[in-house]
Amino acid sequence: MENDALIRTRALSRRYQVGQQPVVALDGVDLDVGRGEFVALVGPSGSGKSTLLNLLGGLDRPESGTIQVADLELGGAGEAQLVRYRREQVGFVFQSFNLLAMRSAVENVEMPLILAGVKPRERRPRALALLESVGLAARAHHKPSELSGGEMQRVAVARALANGPMLLLADEPTGNLDSNTGQGILDLLRQAVAAQGVTLVLVTHDARVASYADRIIHMLDGRIERIESGERARDALKSS
Ligand code: ADP
Ligand code: MG
Repeated sequence: MENDALIRTRALSRRYQVGQQPVVALDGVDLDVGRGEFVALVGPSGSGKSTLLNLLGGLDRPESGTIQVADLELGGAGEAQLVRYRREQVGFVFQSFNLLAMRSAVENVEMPLILAGVKPRERRPRALALLESVGLAARAHHKPSELSGGEMQRVAVARALANGPMLLLADEPTGNLDSNTGQGILDLLRQAVAAQGVTLVLVTHDARVASYADRIIHMLDGRIERIESGERARDALKSS
């Protein structure tokens, strides 16, 4: 693998069987993503964006083709390897936040630390520092129902970063937020890329959000339709 590529997929394909009918979700995707790169996945609903993200996160297995992340080939990895990969190397952020409703903000951030075996005494200070880094120190003991959407997504970002992942996967992370609040979440994610060298793959419907990426991958019918530079997209938005 080229030394600056973190992700490499080749002929990556995934079908779903719906009744008798096979649905092609991904159809031969070849994609390289560099370490520390921010790529946006865009395209119409049903074009395969979430399927690709789930495969990259080891939540799903390819049907054919390969998907290499760092030195792990996810299609051929054992189940225990995949579990470790998801816990230690990947942070997920979802549109619907996916926080535990009965747990406070700080307890939500502690969950991945518990799964990674971080000692109780180290967990709480680390989770509090993470909440502080997303501007939520004052909300540490609030339950999700006592937080705004933007605050919940900040908790989710802190949780995603808890184990120092090399890869951050975000599926419409600003989709449920107004544009100012969404911009704040995007800034946090970009900060993780800039300060910690995290690689960010982000699905979005929002052309402005996508324009912050280094590259914009346009998906259509399970394929990469074209790849656009984020810089060009930003220029185009400015002049429109
Ligand atoms: P996107 O995120 O771009 O909207 P998806 O990756 O969710 O697209 O879906 C791609 C295609 O695969 C769609 O046709 C969708 O209906 C189908 N699909 C996705 N997940 C499943 C599933 N669990 N079972 C059956 N079909 C699915
Ligand atoms: Mg989707």
